[in-house]
Amino acid sequence: MKTYNIAAVPGDGIGVEVIEAGIQVLKALAQRAGTFALNFKQFDWNSDNFLKHGHYIPEGGLEELKTFDSIFFGAVGALNVPDHVSLWGLRLPICQGFDQYANVRPARVLPGVKSPLHNGHEIDWVVIRENSEGEYSGNGGRVHRGLPEEVATEVSVFTRTGVERIHRFAFELARTRPRKHLTLVTKSNAQRHGMVLWDEIFYEVAKDFPDVKVDKELVDAVTTRMVLKPSTLDVIVATNLHADILSDLAAALSGSLGIAPTANLNPGKRFPSMFEPIHGSAFDITGKGVANPIATFWTAAMMLEHLGEPAAARQLMSAIEAVTEAGVHTPDLGGTATTRQVTDAVIELIKR
Ligand code: ATP
Repeated sequence: MKTYNIAAVPGDGIGVEVIEAGIQVLKALAQRAGTFALNFKQFDWNSDNFLKHGHYIPEGGLEELKTFDSIFFGAVGALNVPDHVSLWGLRLPICQGFDQYANVRPARVLPGVKSPLHNGHEIDWVVIRENSEGEYSGNGGRVHRGLPEEVATEVSVFTRTGVERIHRFAFELARTRPRKHLTLVTKSNAQRHGMVLWDEIFYEVAKDFPDVKVDKELVDAVTTRMVLKPSTLDVIVATNLHADILSDLAAALSGSLGIAPTANLNPGKRFPSMFEPIHGSAFDITGKGVANPIATFWTAAMMLEHLGEPAAARQLMSAIEAVTEAGVHTPDLGGTATTRQVTDAVIELIKR
């Protein structure tokens, strides 16, 4: 029997609650399947420990994480730690250190869930975000701090290798979907260096995928297309910053941030990939037992798929969809169910 070792990093806020729920669901699935086992190890890398010890990831932490098959991540962010400190302290060192260059964010209105759009049922997208460079490369600096002459630069970095591999990944993924349609999101009208390279390489790679239909949209225009003509989009490839914003919009249009999953993939499996809900630590609802665990369950299904357990992934998705369809909804979806009740309902279906 195959055993997969999973590093669980719940992090902060509701991350702790949804990862706990996710582990219970995954254990129920493995037990039901009987053909694979999941070993979880918990890592208490969070903002409380950062405030006590001055670091999120302890000495040798990344080395240890490398030995796992995948990482199941909750959220990072605390009221008393600046966001850029927590993000660069925990999540980004994992994404960048493990070269998780492809960030995959599916968006779909699950059965029983209401989209704020009247035509929300047309949403069936995968947003692919370049996850290793671009606007979030970390390249830049500040000089003359606090003086009137202060200067800060934030330099976008686009490399041929980085751009080509994300476009290739996007084409490969688009090819597996019924509509085989890939939209290039860009801003090459205003940004005439990196973004022009981004576009050029897209069309070079496109020659290897004649079966995939392509089109190109400016990032501002694609937001209106997502709202007004959702059915005209299928797979979307965008830079780190653009896709960050577009995928939050996609999540909101699909009904709630609480259902949107994401996978940070190292497609070649040289390093473990990381699976997490899109949402953050949401301190307004932390400890109330009402965090929606569906995003975490959906990302758990993506993790099973990546590990090579597609049947279990499908089973989990069916259970999730049956539960949303039955109206077992947390307050973010307009219901009154608790995290516990949604989790129990999904586990019940898995066991049946
Ligand atoms: P961060 O700064 O870490 O991104 P945040 O609290 O600013 O976190 P999010 O957690 O992304 O922002 O979410 C914004 C709001 O959406 C939350 O304050 C919460 O009300 C709601 N929300 C997010 N995730 C969930 C969830 N899983 N279930 C219910 N509501 C959620």
